Amino acid sequence: MERSDAHILVFPYPVTGHVNPMLQFSKRLASMGLRVTLVTTQPNTKPIEEAQSNNYPIHIEPISDGFQPGEKAQSVEAYLEKFQKVASQSLAQLVEKLARSERPIKFIVYDSVMPWALDTAEELGLDGAPFYTQSCAVSAIYYHVSQGMMKIPIEGKTASFPSMPLLGINDLPSFISDMDSYPSLLRLVLGRFSNFRKAKCLLINTFDMLEAEVVKWMGSQWPVKTIGPTIPSMYLDRRLEDDKDYGLSPLNLNVDACITWLDARDTGSVVYVSFGSLASLGEEQMEELAWGLKRSNDYFLWVVRELEEQKLPSKFIEDTADKGLVVRWCPQLDVLAHKAVGCFMTHCGWNSTLEALSLGVPMLVMPQWTDQMTNAKFVADVWGVGVRVKAPDEKGIVKREEIEECIREAMEGERGKEMKRNAERWKELAKEAVTEGGSSDKNIEEFVKEILCS
Ligand code: UDP
Repeated sequence: MERSDAHILVFPYPVTGHVNPMLQFSKRLASMGLRVTLVTTQPNTKPIEEAQSNNYPIHIEPISDGFQPGEKAQSVEAYLEKFQKVASQSLAQLVEKLARSERPIKFIVYDSVMPWALDTAEELGLDGAPFYTQSCAVSAIYYHVSQGMMKIPIEGKTASFPSMPLLGINDLPSFISDMDSYPSLLRLVLGRFSNFRKAKCLLINTFDMLEAEVVKWMGSQWPVKTIGPTIPSMYLDRRLEDDKDYGLSPLNLNVDACITWLDARDTGSVVYVSFGSLASLGEEQMEELAWGLKRSNDYFLWVVRELEEQKLPSKFIEDTADKGLVVRWCPQLDVLAHKAVGCFMTHCGWNSTLEALSLGVPMLVMPQWTDQMTNAKFVADVWGVGVRVKAPDEKGIVKREEIEECIREAMEGERGKEMKRNAERWKELAKEAVTEGGSSDKNIEEFVKEILCS
């Protein structure tokens, strides 16, 4: 089969941290001559379409999640239940519609948290592969828990997994260390392992050198293909000339304001602070963070999403205007690539972690929930690129003094210098992985060949 005849459907779970990496993977496939259709919910379609490249166009198919624009689900459970019901039907209808077109679908790449997409694919006579938007380590932990192969440690004790350092209770994904916290999300992340053995292969957004041991272990069990980091090409191998952006930023994003502000700062003088697209800090934590930043006396660029703004201490923005810029969203890759940024204070979402590693930026990590705890452990203790704040107090708060001290350590101390050296090394290795002949590049080539031959 010719590459241009192969038509792949890519179906991410419709939140930023899942759409971004799967969209990037789609671009890579399209740049290799495949036809790619990305299925996503209505609010995501317009920004992606507007950021399209003529060189490797992605076809976008909107899908309903069962909710009207602006309508909120009563609970996470209610959303997930309705989404699965509506989206699996729409997926089947879409594949059937495309079956009557010139180029019917050949293969489905689906988000690993939607294993039902593989069942739908099978019913339609198609093969599929799950895409894991988390690290290999986190996926392996969930696998062990899903198989009942792991004892949850109690406070002060550690858990042991094949090919991983010992993990304390605070290093485990929060859905595991506190199984009652989000039962429906726990079911979602463990559900990935219900039917994955029927998939052609497992695509994981990581790279071999980053998680060498655990990639090797997983690879000895299943057909694993590491294909990351899925960062826009212009920040890594520069092979896709106009691939500079994920394409999912708000359309009215004021890119220039952040960059102009950074341009006026000295090299390595700014703390960039962002907790991603979902995490929501409590009011007290927000206040501690604000005063921690002020006390550090460093420059800071802080992303506070619109809905979070009312938690900022009153007059904070005015009081710190000579030192800080608070924005609702920023072009994170441009910010991390800017020489003025000295460290990234992050919640350790997997995309943010990979972005900081790929751009050589040391981190100050303050994980909030889900896989962020495990990512933070690896950032600080395995990859040597971050300082992790001490575990929150009994009220769940990290105090301003602790934040101030960690900022100093990352920005000024010997540890900060060592972190910077390590970060530069990871940056090179990330680039190597996706450059022609690198481990991820070879895996993507192999994946495409397998689809063409199947
Ligand atoms: N992001 C961005 N601008 C911001 C904040 C975040 O572009 O102001 C992007 C960031 O580059 C990353 C994604 O949003 O690709 C967040 O994903 P991550 O996995 O780090 O965290 P999540 O939002 O899923 O918790």
